[in-house]
Amino acid sequence: MYTTERLRELDKLYVWHPFTRMREWLEGEPLIIERAQGVYLIDTEGRRYIDGVSSLWVTVHGHRKRELDRAIREQLKKVAHSTLLGLSNVPSILLAERLVRIAPKGLTKVFYSDNGSTAVEIALKLAFYYWQKRGRPEKKRFLSFSGAYHGDTIGSMSVGEIDLFVERYRPLLFPSYRAPYPYCYRCPVGRTYPECSLKCVERLEAVLKRAHRRISACIIEPVVQGAGGMVVAPQGFLREVRRLTKKYNVLLIADEVATGFGRTGRMFACQWEDVSPDILCLAKGITGGYLPLAVTLTTEPIFRAHLGTRKNPDAFYHGHTYTGNPLACSVALANLEVFEKERVLDRIQPVVELFSSILEGFRELRHVGDVRYRGLMAGIELVEDRQTKKPYRADLRMGWRVCMNARKRGVVVRPLGDTIVVMPPLSIKKRELKRLLSAIYESIREVTEGA
Ligand SMILES: *Cc1c(COP(=O)(O)O)cnc(C)c1O
Repeated sequence: MYTTERLRELDKLYVWHPFTRMREWLEGEPLIIERAQGVYLIDTEGRRYIDGVSSLWVTVHGHRKRELDRAIREQLKKVAHSTLLGLSNVPSILLAERLVRIAPKGLTKVFYSDNGSTAVEIALKLAFYYWQKRGRPEKKRFLSFSGAYHGDTIGSMSVGEIDLFVERYRPLLFPSYRAPYPYCYRCPVGRTYPECSLKCVERLEAVLKRAHRRISACIIEPVVQGAGGMVVAPQGFLREVRRLTKKYNVLLIADEVATGFGRTGRMFACQWEDVSPDILCLAKGITGGYLPLAVTLTTEPIFRAHLGTRKNPDAFYHGHTYTGNPLACSVALANLEVFEKERVLDRIQPVVELFSSILEGFRELRHVGDVRYRGLMAGIELVEDRQTKKPYRADLRMGWRVCMNARKRGVVVRPLGDTIVVMPPLSIKKRELKRLLSAIYESIREVTEGA
């Protein structure tokens, strides 16, 4: 057996961690997870931590969920992988049928890939080619929102707008249009909700009016913008986006990689406003947090645009090696079965209520500027000065320090800048949720007030 010390040494020698300042990592004492159970992560020393961010937003029914473990074991007795290029396999068929059944209406075709960024790349390529085939070749640009995050590949970065992540790669990216996302705490159009009557929508309409002839699709993270800081859009915004994209003949891509699978309290965030997008991207929670899998769902017209004619048959020239992987699809199916069998979306309602009522109490902390949440997704934004909403100096790394402090209290969370993200598995029990939130509360207090 390797000791924790030896594992740390080897990690530092060989593993390059994503979104991680490796210079600091090499000086620190990395936490190494060995096992997990329910909402708990367990390290190589046997210490237990509540998984406060669902292992980066993926774990749904908790770790080592019996039904999910079993689905993988059963599928292993049949086949681990077989390709979808020119062949089919059983779990990918059954999962596609099931996804279409629960997705917003009109989405009838399922294209598989294996992560959120590729689900978005696929959406962009589908939208672009759709207009090429419809005789509108000039519709080749995209419209996205301020603070958007759609992944780390070149195309998905091009429609993203978190400067820290994308600025240095800007010369590689294609240009796209931007509209303001309703980040109400720091309103991009200087208004206050609800008196504003969604004034920001006018800015979106102005862009569409000016450029719709060149725009193939608008891409949005519906209801909650994740990596941009857990920004919760006010009721009605998404519906306006759908109305305007229809009015200006622009496709709507809903990136529900983060919000899908119950995170916001509905199966899909679009369902909060009865919106059907033309393209829907799903990943993260799709396998309950077990295996990498993603899907891009789309409509009949977009599918048909890729058929060509009998004389000139066409294809969608895209596909990843592990597309439709049977193990991943079978655990995704089991994930959806648990949702149904345990009536998860009904069952979590009291937990969601407790979550919001405890979170409201965070507003009494002197350096909590904003608390925003929907379902079991929340962001707590720390500020130096609450009156002026002045942020902390970035080099103070307050968000990061709060999360490190929480770790001492048996909680794993990860900040987005100075916004503390809380996104526990849907299976979290009230008692565990109270523990999680009180640890975070105490950490914020200790770090920001030195108390
Ligand atoms: C995480 C995320 C992605 C990227 O998914 P990966 O699997 O990390 O490539 C895309 N869009 C949104 C909204 C996300 O939260």
